[in-house]
Amino acid sequence: MSSIETSAVSQAVSDSLEYTLFSWSKQAGLSPIDIASAKGVWLHARDGKKYMDFTSQLVNVNIGHGHPKVAEAVYKQMNEVSYVYPGMVTEPRGKLGRLLSEAAPGNLQKTFFTLGGAEANENAIKLARLVTGRHKILALYRSYHGATIATITASGDPRRHQVDAQAAPNIFHVENPYSYRCPWGTSTPEECGRMAAAHMERVIQYQGPETVAAIILEGESGTSGCIKYPKGYWKAIREIADRHGILIICDEVMSGFARTGKMFGVEHHEVVPDILTFAKGVTAGYLPLGGMIVSEPICKQLDDMNLPLGLTYSAHPVSCAAGVAVMEIYHEEGLVDRAAEMGRYLDKRMEELKTIHPSIGDWRNTGLLGCLELVRNRETKEGVAPFNAKPNEMAIMNKVMTKVRELGMFSFARWSYLFIAPPLTITHAEMDQGLDILSQSLRIADEYCH
Ligand code: PLP
Repeated sequence: MSSIETSAVSQAVSDSLEYTLFSWSKQAGLSPIDIASAKGVWLHARDGKKYMDFTSQLVNVNIGHGHPKVAEAVYKQMNEVSYVYPGMVTEPRGKLGRLLSEAAPGNLQKTFFTLGGAEANENAIKLARLVTGRHKILALYRSYHGATIATITASGDPRRHQVDAQAAPNIFHVENPYSYRCPWGTSTPEECGRMAAAHMERVIQYQGPETVAAIILEGESGTSGCIKYPKGYWKAIREIADRHGILIICDEVMSGFARTGKMFGVEHHEVVPDILTFAKGVTAGYLPLGGMIVSEPICKQLDDMNLPLGLTYSAHPVSCAAGVAVMEIYHEEGLVDRAAEMGRYLDKRMEELKTIHPSIGDWRNTGLLGCLELVRNRETKEGVAPFNAKPNEMAIMNKVMTKVRELGMFSFARWSYLFIAPPLTITHAEMDQGLDILSQSLRIADEYCH
């Protein structure tokens, strides 16, 4: 996002800029918004300006901001017991483990808790290597799995380049079934999916199937552009994995917890992974928590072997208490169905916007995990910015996002992708208001269409 000049900045902004480092950014020229409070889909800045949160921050505040039930559960747990080491048990640990096992598909049984998504995937990679006795991990190029050494390497996303793509060895990548720009030039998503699955199997053959421990896939694609899996793709990958004794790690860090109109994104594909990783939505971002849910056969295998994984804050009682409260909110407020319903409404409204804005090249959405791909020309599909765009190639998108912010909306964009993933509690009126802001901002991109 481009920087906006502000004359007077608050103490919070000046201290933060002077004494803290900001993720994924050049440190000079930043203009962070100073948030004083947040409620529902609204962020209230200290200078009085209001922003609609159109991406639930980093697609984690699924229940909306400021839910009192979570604050109460956290306060209560803090007063009872705020911390014990992970060899002891507390009520929220056991309860959240049970709720997760009940919510997860198939035979996914026991959870190992972490603090966030990267640690969840990091531990899943270690566990897959441990229980298979194999070392290689296969991932998609257009994917993101976290910023630790192994997970940033597993992420095919170019964010890994600056920190050395093969910092963690034995991780390989294959093409996505990206049907809008299918690498095999196919004419239907299903055909692109079949080609992508066949390509993955060829790479497995080249690598030696007996050396491959796991395939890691996002349940539904997130920051790589919500690239929808064609029908049949996930099933084909499950079949290939089974044939070669390879495990599947499903990364539900972004697509989990009602976000896509199912509790977990992979449920759209009727496939059960061997390890399911999660974070973000489990506490809706109110406290840090993540983990991996492990299948029953792997749990059985672990009965007789040492589990060489551990974290001081694994199963943190207060984070688990937040998780229990948030899981109850998903059920009590019917947020799985609500995400599906609001997603259908968003899709319908987007069809209208497509007729007004020539810059909308593609709209990909599942529930409320959506992404606009903006183009300069619908025929040639020339993007408003290229893949892995350099700062000077982001001029059009920066103008669009400056307008978005000016008009009172928080959203994020990468290259030619603009994300829409509001809290699942968003009302129809709020959605219309958000889309109106977006529509006004897209006029800027339309001007560059030819
Ligand atoms: N996996 C996916 C699919 C994600 O989207 C993210 C973060 O955006 C992660 C893993 C990493 O999670 P965290 O930032 O909590 O480490």
